[in-house]
Amino acid sequence: MRISELYRSGTFDLSVEIFPPKNESGDAELFRTLEELIRYQPAFVSCTYGAGGSTSKRTIELCETIQNQLHTTATAHFTCVASTRDQLVDWLQSASDAGINNIMALRGDPPKGQETFVPADGGLKYANELVALIREHFPQMGIGVAGYPEVHPESPDAETDLANLKRKVDAGANAVYTQLFFNNTHFHNFRERCVQAGITCPIIPGIMPITEFRRIQRISSMCNSEFPVELTEKLEAVQEDLEAQFEIGVDFAIRQCQELIDDGVPGIHFYALNRSPACKRIFEALGFHEA
Ligand SMILES: Cc1cc2nc3c(=O)[nH]c(=O)nc-3n(C[C@H](O)[C@H](O)[C@H](O)COP(=O)(O)OP(=O)(O)OC[C@H]3O[C@@H](n4cnc5c(N)ncnc54)[C@H](O)[C@@H]3O)c2cc1C
Repeated sequence: MRISELYRSGTFDLSVEIFPPKNESGDAELFRTLEELIRYQPAFVSCTYGAGGSTSKRTIELCETIQNQLHTTATAHFTCVASTRDQLVDWLQSASDAGINNIMALRGDPPKGQETFVPADGGLKYANELVALIREHFPQMGIGVAGYPEVHPESPDAETDLANLKRKVDAGANAVYTQLFFNNTHFHNFRERCVQAGITCPIIPGIMPITEFRRIQRISSMCNSEFPVELTEKLEAVQEDLEAQFEIGVDFAIRQCQELIDDGVPGIHFYALNRSPACKRIFEALGFHEA
């Protein structure tokens, strides 16, 4: 199903994000994970596009396998990094030829050590340009874009960031998927501001269960998200006990998701990190069961 057809009134759609593993054993583990998670009938599984375009072909191949072997809709992430317009269109054509009908359209991050994003010669500078390019060449494609409840780190302020998000939606995006966050107040305020700014498409919260103390610092610095002190302290107190950390992280995510559902979100996008146990526990607790 295309993203444009999801989140209709009265439906609730789960989606799961994975990344291309680095080797064959990672692939095997990923497919074991996916076999577990697709039993919960996610609306789609999305596969990221490696930094610097490093997984260009792999992203399409994995999406193709997910669709053909697991019979689940796939969404391919795609960035503007290091590509001319023609190369972007070629890649989109390959994705379309592979039967992919949904793209998560992103600008991508600047390479490590670089503060600002420099587009390739003849390339695109912002995700709204990529959305427009997709709409021009593949008008039927479902398009998701990224939104930032705690503001994109390069943005001077929340208002500017929101105006830029609106450009993506006005260019033809069908839904906004948020950066992960742990404090629902940020999402709630962001959604209100989106409505006030005239962004009317579905806004889907992105949730990552954090089940290990050692991951907190990396995750927070990667995504600029405020990490709750209470959760940090709880995880730190049992940092030698993996099982206890798992329970604490899952419990936190269940409460966070339940609150979002009670608040009327039309779906949740799970950053699954290629693993199933935490997501499975959360899905079950939220009342989604294996088909
Ligand atoms: C759901 C999700 C999935 C992601 N998947 C991937 C992935 O697979 N691969 C990957 O490499 N990265 C991924 N990212 C990270 C993303 O690439 C980075 O956050 C990147 O820094 C910004 O991408 P964007 O699409 O939000 O860019 P943009 O929307 O282009 O925004 C980038 C910055 O430029 C500003 N801006 C936007 N448009 C304009 C304009 N027209 N004029 C002036 N300023 C503007 C924005 O306010 C923002 O500060 C993902 C992020 C999310 C939330």
